[in-house]
Amino acid sequence: MAVPGLIKGLGVTMRELIRTLFPDGLKNPVPRPSKGAHTVQYPHEKEAPTPRARGVIALHEENCTACMLCARECPDWCIYIEGHKTLAPPRRAGGRPRQVNILDRFDIDYALCMYCGICVEVCPFDALFWSPDYEYSELKIADMLHDKDRLTEWMHTVPDFEEYEAGSQEKVKKVPR
Ligand code: SF4
Ligand code: SF4
Repeated sequence: MAVPGLIKGLGVTMRELIRTLFPDGLKNPVPRPSKGAHTVQYPHEKEAPTPRARGVIALHEENCTACMLCARECPDWCIYIEGHKTLAPPRRAGGRPRQVNILDRFDIDYALCMYCGICVEVCPFDALFWSPDYEYSELKIADMLHDKDRLTEWMHTVPDFEEYEAGSQEKVKKVPR
């Protein structure tokens, strides 16, 4: 049963090869692979990624409680968080001061990140979002470590949350601005 599948696969490969090499068809068999290729000639040409593309992770700093959950769940250990505790005013008059975490450092090393999205999924406070921005390459690999100021800047490129299909979700989340 594997042989027909193999032949079928080779047929698909051959068809795509011919379509790429001869984009004007076999009636005019002039090889023009640069016209037929699907490759985008970046940076001369730029793609418009879909709004939900996993380009880069943006941080909404105000929502982050430095709980470390994302750093613990990251399979690549490429999220670095530091924070300290401080006392905040009580919520109600006469109440006791609350202990809160202040975020001092939030770095993601994009040289290690594999864009799995686990950190975005596990964050219980809606502090991490996917942005479709992909133009942040660096000449030195060490410069792929981006700090919280840079991650926060990317919040402007996060698309608005798309509503779920009717009836599929009661609560519609909003991207904080
Ligand atoms: S996308 Fe995955 S690998 Fe990248 S920082 Fe988040 S959890 Fe880690
Ligand atoms: S981004 Fe979310 S999961 Fe990560 S430390 Fe901040 S609040 Fe916790």
